[in-house]
Amino acid sequence: VTVIEAVKAVLGQIRSMEPDLNSFVTVDEAFALSQAEAVQKKIDAGELTGPLAGVPVAIKDNICIKDMKTTCSSNILSDFVPTYTAQAVENLIEAGAIIIGKTNMDEFAMGSTTETSAFGPTKNPWNLEYVPGGSSGGSCTAVAAGECFYALGSDTGGSIRQPASYCGVTGLKPTYGTISRYGLIAYGSSLDQIGPVAKDVTDCAAILEVLTSHDKKDSTSVDRKDNHFMEALTKDVKGLRVGIPADYLGEGLNEEVKEAVLKAAKVLEEKGAVVETFDLGRVKYAIPAYYVIASAEASSNLSRFDGVKYGYRAREYEGLHGMYKKSRSEGFGAEVKRRIMLGSFVLSSGYYDAYYIKALKTKALIKKSFDEAFAKYDVILGPTAPTTAPKLNESLSDSLKMYLGDIYTISVNLAGLPGLSIPFGTDHKGLPIGIQLIGDCFQEKNILRAGFALE
Ligand code: GLN
Repeated sequence: VTVIEAVKAVLGQIRSMEPDLNSFVTVDEAFALSQAEAVQKKIDAGELTGPLAGVPVAIKDNICIKDMKTTCSSNILSDFVPTYTAQAVENLIEAGAIIIGKTNMDEFAMGSTTETSAFGPTKNPWNLEYVPGGSSGGSCTAVAAGECFYALGSDTGGSIRQPASYCGVTGLKPTYGTISRYGLIAYGSSLDQIGPVAKDVTDCAAILEVLTSHDKKDSTSVDRKDNHFMEALTKDVKGLRVGIPADYLGEGLNEEVKEAVLKAAKVLEEKGAVVETFDLGRVKYAIPAYYVIASAEASSNLSRFDGVKYGYRAREYEGLHGMYKKSRSEGFGAEVKRRIMLGSFVLSSGYYDAYYIKALKTKALIKKSFDEAFAKYDVILGPTAPTTAPKLNESLSDSLKMYLGDIYTISVNLAGLPGLSIPFGTDHKGLPIGIQLIGDCFQEKNILRAGFALE
């Protein structure tokens, strides 16, 4: 296939699927076709030889691309056009990627269903009555439905892995610091990481190699020398030490998801891995600690959207404060406002020690639990989410229930670890089940190796 053919194929698929799915906020056909021509020339001239050259990609709409609308699926940024491109996207462009458009998401990446988008929900491609998960629901749906070959998502507390599990695709959140956050619109900066969503582990490894780079524009970017992730794909897991946290298999976990995890454990064991269950501990503290820290950082990060510098401004208002208040009241949706209020509260004097500092201490203890685990194991195996995808309109009315669904993913962000979700069978409704492989910091190769052996 030529590059133009590949691009036309995904554009055709987008045209036929979008009325049902709504995975995209923006599709730029003309831009995609002009990139395709330019890249084809470079391929023909032998200037582009890597595996991503000429391959169409979709980008989550909280990752900036110069001259292309970037909305975070929020009314407050509905007309925002960035003047620069995220470093992660620059890396893809350099590798010859063809950008098709920007994908739908929960507003400012806050949510687990893609229903908090100001531009309407994305639907699960396996069954349109169900949610695709979130917040990278648009990216995962687009990959599952063949509207692109792979996509970028962002993961603050599971936003790549959980929708990947609901949509039957593979999603990877790398170790914090691996992929530059320059140009990613911040939610919880100490937890946010960009990562790939793709059809399988091999694609994820190849994309990760391109995305990984040291970037001086991001002060938390790590200079990693060990970025040859494809080397991990050997199908050999002999001697790999795999731990299953018993506390991940208890109350609240759907039986079919649990069976999938145990089946995966068996497959790894048959292939020579050493599998054991153990007590990770402190699991129940992850949700409260995460929602305090993420909301605190969000309240600070989102203070820049005030109607002055960019973004939506209310038409009529009285005075400067009136303008801030009205612009923000009209521009942000309910879930974002809830987080801003919660975050401002836990950071306010008098409550700072009681909530924010306590959450930071809890974060450190959770990291310690993982450190102890990784002294014994190379990989931690468990579910990605407690259930398969819920129905549309089931989650929004009960935020707390939605937050509880993040139990297996958010501790990975609190500890800065890499996590991979791979599809592993379906439930009785025919919806995909995802299982999660967690590695120690900078040990992506271990989880890619285990994930590859399970495909
Ligand atoms: N569901 C979580 C939240 O709402 C995680 C979101 C994310 O990773 N961006 O915060």
